[in-house]
Amino acid sequence: MKTERSVHLSKVRRVVIKIGSSLLTGGKTSGIRTRFLGHLAEQIKGLQKNGIQCLIVTSGAIAAGLFELGQFKRPKEMEKLQALAAIGQSNLMHAYEIVFKRFGLKVAQILLTREDLANRPRYSNAHNTVMELFRNKIIPVVNENDTVAVEEIKFGNNDILGTLVTHLCQADLLVVLTDTDGFFESDPHLNPKAKLISTITVFDSGLEKTASKSFSNIGTGGMKTKIQAAKMMMQSGIPMVIANGNTRNVLKNILRSKPVGTFFSPAPQKMSSRKSWLAWGVQAKGEIMVDDGAKKALVEMDKSLLPSGIMKLAGIWNRGDMVKIVDRSGVEIARGQSNYSSRDLDQIKGMRTSEIVEKIGKVSGAEAVHRDNLVKL
Ligand code: GLU
Repeated sequence: MKTERSVHLSKVRRVVIKIGSSLLTGGKTSGIRTRFLGHLAEQIKGLQKNGIQCLIVTSGAIAAGLFELGQFKRPKEMEKLQALAAIGQSNLMHAYEIVFKRFGLKVAQILLTREDLANRPRYSNAHNTVMELFRNKIIPVVNENDTVAVEEIKFGNNDILGTLVTHLCQADLLVVLTDTDGFFESDPHLNPKAKLISTITVFDSGLEKTASKSFSNIGTGGMKTKIQAAKMMMQSGIPMVIANGNTRNVLKNILRSKPVGTFFSPAPQKMSSRKSWLAWGVQAKGEIMVDDGAKKALVEMDKSLLPSGIMKLAGIWNRGDMVKIVDRSGVEIARGQSNYSSRDLDQIKGMRTSEIVEKIGKVSGAEAVHRDNLVKL
């Protein structure tokens, strides 16, 4: 019998596998867990044999750096974290290379920053590189370029990087491997009787509340960011699974649609590459609050956003920058590139097109955000 999972998972030809720091490093007692990497490589080899292309998003550079220096506590200062990542990243890649070679697999390192993905030509370059690696059966191993990314331009964590890379390489599944069995009804660290949720078909705000912060002192994010990632994937029309990377044959079983981990069911329509880039690739510089009429036109009738429907703005941006569009209660309903700077838009909000020239002496289009440059969320 076909299940919700098998409908989606039986079709997967390309998968992004995100590996958390806690799986890759043993903390105080050991460095990089080569045994874990060995089983990962073995499973990936099996997937490749079945014609499934794999890309890895790896964490663990900072954790490996800590081990190398004999330190056990993750520092808070950015420059210390960056130095640790620089030390650990080469150790990490070395381990991938050696272990994967034993299984006849080749790996390639790709380090990305948020700016690389926000910039369309650089985004295309990264896409082309990944595709060329796939053609040559080489496994791309992606991490954030921690040594150059400062707080404001960081992906935040590798769960979010995983979603963006899934779009970048047009994969049909994101698997987030961690050290718990999936997403639980309540935090299993606090409540050992907490129940695992096997499938999530509808995303509601309760999930965000349930998601708790990580207790680990080596990685970042915890369930909170995994749930954010799941929301992005569901909205983009791509399935995601959170599962325990320490479980034997976990990847193999996920792709055989076995009930492992938590499966997040995608929206029926897959977002186009450009729309997903608009939605998640570029960070929003500000927020436009719209009235109910504009909300209806946008959400139900797929119309552009006109200045007349704008109630208020938050933030400062230039023409062409990405902005969030929120309804009267502050809920984000869409995202798009603004035709006007926040300064100009602030002067013409609520106005009809005919009044705009009079007010600011120019018109950069009748729309504040054109429907072609807008994505509904
Ligand atoms: N890029 C970080 C590292 O390799 C990991 C970030 C994360 O754990 O989300 O250490």
